[in-house]
Amino acid sequence: MFVRSLKRDSATCFVTPRCFDFITEKFIRRHSSTSFVPKHLPVREEDIDKLDRLISVSRNILILTGAGISTESGIPDYRSEGVGLYARSTNRPVQYRDFLKSEAVRRRYWARNYVGWPRFSSFSPNETHLSVRKLVNDIGIARCVVTQNVDSLHTKAKTRNVIELHGSAYRVVCINCDFKIERHAFQDLLANLNPDMQIIDQMIRPDGDVEMNQDQVEGFNIPSCPSCAGLLKPDIVFFGDNVPKNRVEQVRNEVQLCDTLLVLGSSLTVFSAYRIILQASELHKPIAIVNIGETRGDKHALIKISAKCGDVLPHLCR
Ligand SMILES: [Zn+2]
Repeated sequence: MFVRSLKRDSATCFVTPRCFDFITEKFIRRHSSTSFVPKHLPVREEDIDKLDRLISVSRNILILTGAGISTESGIPDYRSEGVGLYARSTNRPVQYRDFLKSEAVRRRYWARNYVGWPRFSSFSPNETHLSVRKLVNDIGIARCVVTQNVDSLHTKAKTRNVIELHGSAYRVVCINCDFKIERHAFQDLLANLNPDMQIIDQMIRPDGDVEMNQDQVEGFNIPSCPSCAGLLKPDIVFFGDNVPKNRVEQVRNEVQLCDTLLVLGSSLTVFSAYRIILQASELHKPIAIVNIGETRGDKHALIKISAKCGDVLPHLCR
């Protein structure tokens, strides 16, 4: 296969918003890393061959990734039947307008975010992230990765040229000025302001449950911007917010330049991702989708494989 021979000869080598405001220690510890992967059948050899053939004639693949590729790292997605957060929890992501207008919502958001951060920031890239890195950095047939994920696992995998469509939970920004702070440093600030909440394990009951009572949330202190006293938020696109225009343009440009679009682990439900499919389809670029279950983009796809990305991607990089 071309991909394999190219790799041997290779001398050239090139982001849901999944907020975790309600992914608490309790939630994560209750489930093993594989328990967030939806039920699926083994991938068929002929499907891998079909995808391999498409990739073998591509020179500039744009890869779009969604929450489905991080479930194998132990991070739940939102919508998967039976295993997504919507199926397992009654909590829902914070809407941006509520975050802006309500101090109580911000307090609750940051309190849970503070508790969830040590676990959330400990997740590692899985086989799919490493395979994507190979396609971009080593084999060189993919030039750019657009991810809907805010977990920065492509960055942790050291993949080049990643556009985090919905931002990254690893940064905190001011909504008024250009102040930015790295999320780990922000955790230290929160810890200093909330010494009573420092020892997270104390909050876990013997049955593994963690509930933050109203007193804990109400007493939680959040800093304001040190430059302008404005509101601080994670550098992510909240539900109800828009992807920044320059980022949309950057992605549009990448779709224009690519010769193939490869979608990995996204249901494409969110319009900011679906419009990438629409543009690629209008430009008659071949589209391949690997995702367990149906996606909004299936009707536009030349190849659709309903399988776990971790069962498919490593075969393309051998
Ligand atoms: Zn500011």
